[in-house]
Amino acid sequence: MNKKYRKALIAGNWKMNMLPSEAKGFVEALKAEMPKQKSCDVAICAPFVVMPALMKATGGSRIALGAQDVSAHDKGAYTGEVSIAQLKDIGTKYVIIGHSERRQYHGETDELVNAKSLKTLDAGITPIICVGESLDQRERGLTLPHIEYQVRAALTAMSEEQVRRCVIAYEPIWAIGTGKTATADQAEEVCEYIRGVIRKAFSARTARSTTILYGGSMNAGNAMELLGKADIDGGLIGGASLKPTDFAKIIAATAQESAHE
Ligand code: PEP
Repeated sequence: MNKKYRKALIAGNWKMNMLPSEAKGFVEALKAEMPKQKSCDVAICAPFVVMPALMKATGGSRIALGAQDVSAHDKGAYTGEVSIAQLKDIGTKYVIIGHSERRQYHGETDELVNAKSLKTLDAGITPIICVGESLDQRERGLTLPHIEYQVRAALTAMSEEQVRRCVIAYEPIWAIGTGKTATADQAEEVCEYIRGVIRKAFSARTARSTTILYGGSMNAGNAMELLGKADIDGGLIGGASLKPTDFAKIIAATAQESAHE
């Protein structure tokens, strides 16, 4: 499948790490180390309270601002939630939706993931929709049916144009934050399968235009091999996105990957 039809993206997921006062120093270090050549889009998805400081620090650079969640509601009596309009107002370009940690610790369902994704698209912001199997599901041979179910549920009621504006992140739960990366072949198998699900549910054109990421212990050492796979268009990076040198190396790996295409 030809990668020229879609954008490569390296997105950091800072999770509940980093203080607002640390954003500036991080961005300065990252800017100094990342390649000048633009071989991919770059985003950092920060905790809500860190986002304004990150926005200020990244101003004028190619690093886009991302959030880690959004409310499915527009406004009103939803204590603790943050709306898509509020995120848009501060310049947010990406929102992670349905991360396995939100599904696991906050009971997020496939229906909620779909509702949040639709809200995000309506605001002109890119949802990074996470799907992935547990170790138990993998061991029982349920990976592909589970992924198909999650992808179809997340994309319910979307137009083809909306699907093309989504980013899907394949994140095997057993590989997140564990140091256990899926092999490049395991990751490619599922990313290729996801593209096939989109082809079946929508069209070949939409399938070849949708950006699909791998996430799960991607680091400076394994990024090149993973990003070299035909259906892996980038990465969602947790731990390694907290270290400017490592994150810059992963960004640079997309340059080497596209040079080899
Ligand atoms: C993530 O949280 O999305 C993630 C991929 O984490 P890590 O890279 O630390 O496994």
